[in-house]
Amino acid sequence: MTPSRTPAIVLKVMDHGESDKIVVFYSAVDGRQISIAKGAKRSNKRFVNKLEPFSWLEISYGRRHPNIMAQIFEADLLNPFITLRCHYDRYAAASTIIELVLSWTKDNDVDELLYTTLLWGLTNLDNGRPVLPTVLFFHLKLLGIVGYQPHLAGCIKCGSILAKGQYRFSVNRGGLVCPTCSTAASPSAPHLPLSLSTIKLLRTAQDMELERINRLRFSVASEKEAASLLKKYGEHLLQREIQSWSSVAG
Ligand SMILES: [Zn+2]
Repeated sequence: MTPSRTPAIVLKVMDHGESDKIVVFYSAVDGRQISIAKGAKRSNKRFVNKLEPFSWLEISYGRRHPNIMAQIFEADLLNPFITLRCHYDRYAAASTIIELVLSWTKDNDVDELLYTTLLWGLTNLDNGRPVLPTVLFFHLKLLGIVGYQPHLAGCIKCGSILAKGQYRFSVNRGGLVCPTCSTAASPSAPHLPLSLSTIKLLRTAQDMELERINRLRFSVASEKEAASLLKKYGEHLLQREIQSWSSVAG
């Protein structure tokens, strides 16, 4: 067996037995993987201070047999993203990003765009960019990657294109509903009011490359609307609460 070397981001770490750790990571090449790091709980030069959530590593790993868990043999730090552990707001935002990735992926899922988007999110937070917009842009891009991009071009019910008026977002349908179509909504699948400026900002963000996305600025009101929309739509799709969200967006 020749070990693979790949950059990877640590999503989750659990103690295993007396001396080992179980590590869930997302790599550029093999996507989400669960692996064991033998001896990692002991003072072990190969792993010390490296196998921590958020760390960006270059790892050497492989399987001795197809039916057993992969093993990490070595890890080199590319960036520990240390500031994400020192500032509570960044820690909460990074935890939300990691929770979203864990919720939307399964072991062996591979998506290079998801990997680069995850790396962008953690790097952006580490660089001191505003935390809530980073989480909102990350979540918006992630929903596109997993095939649930919110439909914001017009009314999802009658097909009319975006015009003036009070639009609402149907969590159930995953898109905007125009003022005419926006009638009674059930409490379990609410229609959320969304201003035109928020809709336009989110649409621009959907199409914009990540390298340029920090140029977009939320107003206080738009940030609140976008946070409410993305939380409720995300939780509707996942059918459960996104637990870390409240520590970022209140
Ligand atoms: Zn309509």
